[in-house]
Amino acid sequence: MSGPHPKPTIPFIIPIFLPHTGCPHRCVFCDQAAITGQARPLPPIDQIRHDIRQFLTYPGNLRDTVQISFYGGNFLGLPEKTVRRLLDLATEFIAADRVHSIRFSTRPDTIDSRRLDWLSGYQVATIEIGAQSMDDNVLLESNRGHRAADTKKAMARLKRGGYETGLQMMIGLPGDNAAGALETGRQIVALAPDFVRIYPALVLAGSALADLLAAGNYRPLALDSAVDVTARLFKLFANNRIPVIRMGLQSSAALDRNHTVLAGPYHPAFGQLVMSKLFFDSVRHELDALGPAQRSISIAVHPRSVSNLRGQKNSNLTALKSLFSLDTIKITAQPDLGETEVVVNTGAPVSILNGAGSP
Ligand code: SF4
Repeated sequence: MSGPHPKPTIPFIIPIFLPHTGCPHRCVFCDQAAITGQARPLPPIDQIRHDIRQFLTYPGNLRDTVQISFYGGNFLGLPEKTVRRLLDLATEFIAADRVHSIRFSTRPDTIDSRRLDWLSGYQVATIEIGAQSMDDNVLLESNRGHRAADTKKAMARLKRGGYETGLQMMIGLPGDNAAGALETGRQIVALAPDFVRIYPALVLAGSALADLLAAGNYRPLALDSAVDVTARLFKLFANNRIPVIRMGLQSSAALDRNHTVLAGPYHPAFGQLVMSKLFFDSVRHELDALGPAQRSISIAVHPRSVSNLRGQKNSNLTALKSLFSLDTIKITAQPDLGETEVVVNTGAPVSILNGAGSP
């Protein structure tokens, strides 16, 4: 039995970070050097070639699809000559049959017919757009320099071009709230991307958000609120068969360094917190329905979902025991369940994507 959360085909991605290259300005929340730990915006081509070769020695390159990915900046905001140099470099590896295709992230306002023409003849398969919000006021307060309409237009163009599309959204931006984030989620669903990423806004040292925070003009989301909103968005996307391929920034030495994240809902395993919350809510709902007579219960989930069910340091189990005065909770790994399903005692499997809190 499988849950409705779709599984994207995950390619082996060779990430080439080009921090802030092609950016017309700094968005309030952004500091790619802090996120990627790489200060140099555009490494020399020989260096990138060397990095790609290095990546290709890792065992993961045996996966079916290998993509070279240009991240961390606004790819199509670079001059045409630079875009072509980078695409030519990636094409060397495609021609040698070591890599299958190219992906990059870019701003919605760079998706125009002139720039899309630059891509013709190259094996660009996937384009990720930083939508961030579909609320023009939030975009304005975040100094994005584009509107929601640009994201809609960009998606229409990319779909016409036959690209695989990804949309990135942020929660907790200035001027946003939970209802606004869910509305952004609904508008993103309507655009039908092939996948999404959800990032909570963090206050990074050196960003404009840090100044806003210091001046008392910005309040970041608390971690539990960020987890709650992201869990609701996850359900929304999953129930519309849109894979969520990332929740929260990937932890890195640079990000984990003291004083990089000044405030905000950073957690190195943010995505796991979200999934654990969904399992907790689901089991809690089932136990509410069973009534107070239980002292011991059993819960079955897919083997890959056991740690999400338990929660970090067994936090879900501890909270459930205390909430329902339980003595024991027996957990069984059951491979025939979907990864988003849970069975309490002898009940029928229920999906963590249903129930209270659905957007
Ligand atoms: S969010 Fe994107 S466009 Fe804005 S500064 Fe960061 S990399 Fe550049």
